[in-house]
Amino acid sequence: MASERLQKVMAEAGVASRRKSETLITAGNVTVNGKQVKTLGTKVDEDDRIEVNGIPLQREKLVYLLFYKPRGVISSVKDEKNRKTVMSYFPDVQQRIYPVGRLDYDTSGILLMTNDGQLANKLTHPKYKFEKTYVAKVEGIPTNDQMEKLRHGVRIDKKATAPAKTNVISTDPAKKTAVIELTIHEGRNHQVKKMFEKIDHPVIKLKREKYGFLTLDGLQSGEWRSLKLNEITRLI
Ligand code: URA
Repeated sequence: MASERLQKVMAEAGVASRRKSETLITAGNVTVNGKQVKTLGTKVDEDDRIEVNGIPLQREKLVYLLFYKPRGVISSVKDEKNRKTVMSYFPDVQQRIYPVGRLDYDTSGILLMTNDGQLANKLTHPKYKFEKTYVAKVEGIPTNDQMEKLRHGVRIDKKATAPAKTNVISTDPAKKTAVIELTIHEGRNHQVKKMFEKIDHPVIKLKREKYGFLTLDGLQSGEWRSLKLNEITRLI
């Protein structure tokens, strides 16, 4: 690896955003090979020993994996109730990867796994408006007015949701269910379920089909693949 700017290396290791890393450097919290470095733009090499507040920075090769999370799996690194976590699908990955954002235990679909803290921060920051597309099977058949409410924004947890895109994929009048595609760019807690709850059509089943331009094409539930270079470039 060629030499890189200290703040970039810190951000990639997940210490903090690049801006916050700059503040840490100028405040004198960072040492390189035991020497305090306060100059922004200082370049470091792969074998330089960086410490932030005395804690050594773990530098690893960055990995970007696209995972088709099955239902019934926790999307965190550890679970205090000992349920199966996404980590059990990556026994041979040496890097300390983690999921970018979360999918509920009973939600399936696309989940990005990485050790690139900077990218994870970026993709989950509301400012970037990164689009996620979900397909929800819901109870009952929403009316046009109710669909309009979803598009316009509904109030959940005391705050209106940002405008969404919707598409009714199918309806089953006999079973009184509908399958609806919803694209949002926020990532609030249980957002999709709460949005449908709000229009009185609770979610029966939920799957995330798209993460920005990334899809599940070619993957079965429980499978993953590495992102291609051009996909990584488009994301970062
Ligand atoms: N919205 C939800 O309600 N659940 C998810 O898992 C993701 C988005």
